[in-house]
Amino acid sequence: MSTEPSIFERIVAREIPADIVFENDRVIALRDIAPKAPVHLLVVPKTAQYANVTELAAGDPALLAEIVGVAQQLADQHSDGQYRLVFNTGPQAGQTVFHVHAHLLGGALPEGSLGLQ
Ligand code: AMP
Repeated sequence: MSTEPSIFERIVAREIPADIVFENDRVIALRDIAPKAPVHLLVVPKTAQYANVTELAAGDPALLAEIVGVAQQLADQHSDGQYRLVFNTGPQAGQTVFHVHAHLLGGALPEGSLGLQ
């Protein structure tokens, strides 16, 4: 496991800029720099303790529930309350940042597009 701070830790620390749309003591949310949908936000626990959603669910299920709650709140604000929540888990599933984060996708997503370009 890398000891370098993750990109999200650096955003939380304001070391690099980001378009932050939500923040509380445990969670931050920002616009994805390379959006894949009309609404594409990242909902991220501030702690870097968990690399993926499986670890988060086992280690702090209340924090995972908080991520889902924040996602719903953001979807209410940005995409009529409707959304797709994606946790890439492992490099072959597309994960590139090993600090757990939810992709909140919304805004007239096409049916049948799940997992396909
Ligand atoms: P994943 O590939 O599931 O690990 O998701 C990482 C996401 O972080 C990708 O969708 C990237 O576009 C996004 N990302 C990387 N760097 C930044 C950044 N500085 N600000 C916002 N989003 C970023």
